[in-house]
Amino acid sequence: MRSLISRIALTCLLGSSILHISGAPQSKSKQPNIVFLMSDDHAAHALSAYGSVINKTPNLDRIANEGMRFDRCFAVNSICTPSRATILTGKYSHINGVPVFNRFDGSQPTVAKHLQSSGYYTGMIGKWHLGSDPTGFNKWTILPGQGAYFNPDFLAPEGRKKIEGYTTDIITDLAIDFLKNRPKDQPFFLMCHHKAPHRPWEPDAKHKAMFANRTIPEPATLRDNYASRSDALHENQQRVFDDLTRSDLKLVPPSDLKGPSLNQWLNTKPKEVEITVNGQKKTLTGETLNQWKYQRYMQDYLACIQSVDDNVGRLLDWLDSNGLRENTIVIYTSDQGFFLGDHGMYDKRFMYEPSIKMPFIVRWPGVIKPGSVEKSLAINPDFAPTFMEASGLSVPKDMQGKSLVPLMKGEHPPDWRTSFYYRYYHDPGNHNTRAHYGVRTDTHKLIHYWKKDQWELFDLSTDPNELRNLYGDPQQQPTIAKLKTELYRLKTELKDDDTTADKFADQGVDGPFPDKKRNEPNL
Ligand code: CA
Repeated sequence: MRSLISRIALTCLLGSSILHISGAPQSKSKQPNIVFLMSDDHAAHALSAYGSVINKTPNLDRIANEGMRFDRCFAVNSICTPSRATILTGKYSHINGVPVFNRFDGSQPTVAKHLQSSGYYTGMIGKWHLGSDPTGFNKWTILPGQGAYFNPDFLAPEGRKKIEGYTTDIITDLAIDFLKNRPKDQPFFLMCHHKAPHRPWEPDAKHKAMFANRTIPEPATLRDNYASRSDALHENQQRVFDDLTRSDLKLVPPSDLKGPSLNQWLNTKPKEVEITVNGQKKTLTGETLNQWKYQRYMQDYLACIQSVDDNVGRLLDWLDSNGLRENTIVIYTSDQGFFLGDHGMYDKRFMYEPSIKMPFIVRWPGVIKPGSVEKSLAINPDFAPTFMEASGLSVPKDMQGKSLVPLMKGEHPPDWRTSFYYRYYHDPGNHNTRAHYGVRTDTHKLIHYWKKDQWELFDLSTDPNELRNLYGDPQQQPTIAKLKTELYRLKTELKDDDTTADKFADQGVDGPFPDKKRNEPNL
């Protein structure tokens, strides 16, 4: 009996020590391939899988129909570069060192490195935007900075090269090349990151034509007057009606303008616009101009997405016709959400739902039941732990997210999170957005604009559009007290001691970008 107990104890001891070796493979026999497709600024409410009323995305919908749609997946710092660093590390911005547009320290551990060292062949294709060269990838070909839509330059270990064509097509071609040329005896991990539909919205001719004459329905909150909300919302400069420039609106400058005067013309936020309809010149002002601006914005934005949809379909077809359907996890997401005229805006950054909600759809044949919908709270620090567990690896203890694999299997762990922490630092940033942190639960959201010491409370169950700030309502005081306790509990648990916020307080616009050596303008 004693020897049996000793053997059990020894087995437990060995088992637990294996579990604690970060990245230690548990089983390599069926390690799935992972294709992680991410676009830039693609709001969930511009996918028909999420009930879009403004466009159809049949190819992206295939992933949801054949797999799972996460309905509550959120970015914890809703801006491009920080979200990318969080996805790679499984950590919040204050831990991975990328709270604003500052350079990613590639010497730190990432999920790509963990997978690579456990035998995965790893690739990074497309928009990287982290200011340093990718690490942990066997092959990488990235756009410099934001990159260009047409005839873009790419950076690779071999150097810089220009590729003729349209960026979404090219990135897909390069992803398929990576898959074709990979070593066939290794599982692979491919991050394929589209530039689209980031501003400036430049669709190709085919997709532009699809939307040229389409009238896009306006969102319910396009004319939000911000009543009851904090000064932060009133001060934002990402308003469709007031802040889109002539360049954003694709207005054609007079042919004699050059140099600084051309730039000044393009960067002006026009109060009147002259258009030609049926050969007749017409000057738009006031409400007519406002309506026109929203249409111009959405027509180009949605046309850029339509190319992503076509190209994701092309990649799915390639996987399916090359025997890679069954043992390959395919994920589609975006680095954050986006305001599609919601609250009158056209960017992200704020902790409001359209900005922080990420599309997250996953196909994993044999594991995920087709057509599933998951409503548990997921966040972008969860992605790296998910890749680890899906690959049969243990999740490193310093990753702050949780693996989504149990949810993908249809399980609902009783201790799953019921709230998450958010923090945005880029103040004033390109759109005069105030820094804030907050907590979101299943039903409520509490936001603190800490530099202004102003708060917002929303009851998402009765006010899903977040139009009524209840913070000043005496009846809400017990709810506010509970949410503040949870907010500070999360802040402490995640080791956010405000050092990062203090350090980056004066670097709100650019941080150490732009990187002149790499010629990466920060936009
Ligand atoms: Ca983005």
